[in-house]
Amino acid sequence: MKIKAQISMVLNLDKCLGCHTCSITCKNTWTNREGAEYMYFNNVETRPGVGYPKNWENQEKWKGGWSLDKSGHLALATGSKTNRLMKLFYHPEQPELTDYFEPWTYDYETLIHSGRKNNQPVARPRSLVTKQKMEVTWGPNWDDDLAGGEHARADVNLKKMGDHIVFDYEEVFMRYLPRLCNHCLNPACVAACPSGAIYKRDEDGVVLVSQDVCRGWRHCVPSCPYKKIFYNWETNKAEKCVFCYPRLENGLPQICAETCVGRMRYVGVVLYDMDKVEEMASTVNEQDIYEHTVDLLLDPNNPAVIDAAREAGISEAWLKAAQKSPVYKLVKEWKVALPLHPEYRTLPMVWYIPPLSPILQRVTSDVYLPDAHEMRVPVQYLANMFTAGNVETLSNTLQRILDMREYMRRRETNDEPIAHDVDLTEKQMYAMYKLLALSKYNDRFVIPTDIDMSQEGRQHMQHNRGFACPTGGCK
Ligand code: SF4
Ligand code: SF4
Repeated sequence: MKIKAQISMVLNLDKCLGCHTCSITCKNTWTNREGAEYMYFNNVETRPGVGYPKNWENQEKWKGGWSLDKSGHLALATGSKTNRLMKLFYHPEQPELTDYFEPWTYDYETLIHSGRKNNQPVARPRSLVTKQKMEVTWGPNWDDDLAGGEHARADVNLKKMGDHIVFDYEEVFMRYLPRLCNHCLNPACVAACPSGAIYKRDEDGVVLVSQDVCRGWRHCVPSCPYKKIFYNWETNKAEKCVFCYPRLENGLPQICAETCVGRMRYVGVVLYDMDKVEEMASTVNEQDIYEHTVDLLLDPNNPAVIDAAREAGISEAWLKAAQKSPVYKLVKEWKVALPLHPEYRTLPMVWYIPPLSPILQRVTSDVYLPDAHEMRVPVQYLANMFTAGNVETLSNTLQRILDMREYMRRRETNDEPIAHDVDLTEKQMYAMYKLLALSKYNDRFVIPTDIDMSQEGRQHMQHNRGFACPTGGCK
């Protein structure tokens, strides 16, 4: 057993407002400069929809992630090294700028310095790449709130469902999906880089691109199935989400998590067995990969795990953080968080609590809430996103959250608890309710730092750096 520590994030999709604060604070922090205008390390998509870049989930087109070769070994879906080198000057799986969007600004000078005229002056859009006037025809969030429209029908997850999805007004559904690099345990981007410029940090699992070593081959761009590596056209280097590692090193959560208006992000440490990563990623049945990824995560309260972690050089501060980790609870203890597209075999370390709402109260039975399969968002659609199509696993996940809600309603009204199919105790359901509904800053973000800093010290540092929480959540 070789124990490693990983910083991991959980996003509760029921609480995402689609406000895009996370995308904007990330952009202002990391990609607010030339060559990076089209990059959104964090973006928020409307589902059903095609996302950013367009149809990134269509791996028949992009060939991202891993597949199993004839002998059952992991192989990059983009092909062998020779194959990739042969595509150096013509690479049909490289996304183009139009797949993301052509970044633009507005001609504010004309607007501001216009002389007196009969007609009001306007600020025409100008390309940030060519500096010429342009027609805006697509953007990173073009189909915002338009689920059910023309773009929704191209959603790959719907296509896998056949014809039984209805876009009638009464049946249509819509959810938001915030996305960032998953800082995977088996990152395809790292394996694809011929220069060895991309690496996974030993101490916290953050995946980074060395700007000194990157030669701009761009093999990482198609290889990442989530399309979360970007090519900077000004520096000719690859760039990606850095999980805000300078903030993490100071005990602060990522800027997207800190500023999330819905308070739907949770950050914490998980411990895993590195020796088993390849075996788990090679699981033959792709519908079992999620369970096997969860199996990789180790119980931080198990004495044998604690001893092995100490032996592997994991500090007491990190061990303590792993024991208090909200991510461990949500992913492993209560099993309510799932990875996005586990079938890509990269073993993502960003997890999602699938959405329930809108919940309609039942009136015809003594059970307050509907069952998982009666949700408006089709279970099959969510299963295609989070469990490689495994409806049973997805339904069980939703049922755990529903049972917690049912339990809390009955507790409030002093009604008798009902029998549950899922294996959560009342104590666990109450703890889950507190974490999902009432949690404070320090419950949502448990970030170890070897600097022994007081809570006051942390807040002082936050405010000094201008990272004050806009919602007051840090108080
Ligand atoms: S999600 Fe991030 S770590 Fe995973 S393959 Fe893509 S860029 Fe690499
Ligand atoms: S800031 Fe939070 S609530 Fe707003 S879009 Fe991002 S993840 Fe959703």
